[in-house]
Amino acid sequence: MPKCIFCSIVQGEEPAQIVYEDPQSLAFLDKYPQSRGHLQLIPKKHYPRIYEIPEMGAFFTVAGRVIRAIIPVLGADHVTIATFGRQVTHAHLWIVPQYDREGEIKEGFGRKTTREEQKELVRALRVALKGV
Ligand SMILES: [Zn+2]
Repeated sequence: MPKCIFCSIVQGEEPAQIVYEDPQSLAFLDKYPQSRGHLQLIPKKHYPRIYEIPEMGAFFTVAGRVIRAIIPVLGADHVTIATFGRQVTHAHLWIVPQYDREGEIKEGFGRKTTREEQKELVRALRVALKGV
C-alpha cells in the first residue's frame, strides 16, 4: 500500500511549508493554492475522514483559532473552509482565504507564488500562529 502523503508530512519525510503545529494537529500551505495563504489543517494521527476524528470538536476549535489569526495577517475578507477528501484519504480541512476586492481575486486565484513571496508568506503566518 502506498504511504499516505499527509502522514509523510507529519513524519517529516515529505517537505511542506508548515505554519502551525501542536501535539494533535498540523497546518501547512497547500501545494496548489486556490488563494494566497490557502492552508491544509490535518490531525497528526491518520484518520481517513474528518468525521472519524474522535476529538472533532477540538480539531475545529484549532481551525477557528488558526483562521482568526491569519485573517488580519493576510488581509483576507473572510475564509472558506471545506472538506473533500477525494484525493488524499487523510482527514484535512481546506482553509481558503477569500479576498473580495477585485483584482486580488484574480491575482491570488490559481497563480503560483514566487519562492520569495512564499517564503515571506510562511514567515508571516508562522509569526501569526505562534502560540495560537
Ligand atoms: Zn495519513
